[in-house]
Amino acid sequence: MDVAHNLNEIKSTLKDNITLVAVSKTKPNKLVLDAYNAGHRDFGENKVQDLITKHESLPKDINWHFIGHLQSNKVKFIAPFIHLIHAADSLKLLRTINNEAQKNNRVIDVLLQIKIAKEDSKFGLDENDAIHILKSEEFNTFNNIKIRGLMGMATYTNDKLQIESEFTHLHNIYTEFKNLYFIDSTNFDTLSMGMSGDYKIALKCGSNMLRIGSTIFGERV
Ligand SMILES: *Cc1c(COP(=O)(O)O)cnc(C)c1O
Repeated sequence: MDVAHNLNEIKSTLKDNITLVAVSKTKPNKLVLDAYNAGHRDFGENKVQDLITKHESLPKDINWHFIGHLQSNKVKFIAPFIHLIHAADSLKLLRTINNEAQKNNRVIDVLLQIKIAKEDSKFGLDENDAIHILKSEEFNTFNNIKIRGLMGMATYTNDKLQIESEFTHLHNIYTEFKNLYFIDSTNFDTLSMGMSGDYKIALKCGSNMLRIGSTIFGERV
């Protein structure tokens, strides 16, 4: 697996304002280091235990992204170092992240995961649930989290038009939230959407953060 080559192939097609998160889940440190030594610093994991193990054994200037479903009782393990939590999907989880961030004297960057796929197996908030959270009194007391934007996953399908309509929907929600709830904030600037199979469509629909695994590190078993 020529990780550096794969990374550069993708990066050469990306505009400067696009952040590429290399999703290293299930992959060994050696492959992460191949990417690191090629200059890459943003990596994504979706299991807390794997993330802790990698954080401990890999260079400390890596920006670790948590991209999976996060259980509240595990937030404390990643709060000291996590760079961005992509998939916050409840007020309870936001409350816990805020508390753990406070204990670590940090402000943790967070994205709200919005459910855009037709499949009901996917986690995430409905648009109205998200609005409810953003308008709540309690949310406005969370001084140790910064909502940086939204994240979403399209339906796993070959139907490009469906994927495009789901990503466009998320981009519309992103723009609406920015204008309604984050108009005075320069921090709401991140739209995380697009994986190996659909990132080109995601870019067309306004994504500025991609989460790509298998195209960089090879298929997972
Ligand atoms: C695994 C995963 C990815 C990367 O998937 P690939 O198809 O390997 O690029 C992106 N986002 C999330 C949330 C994932 O769990």
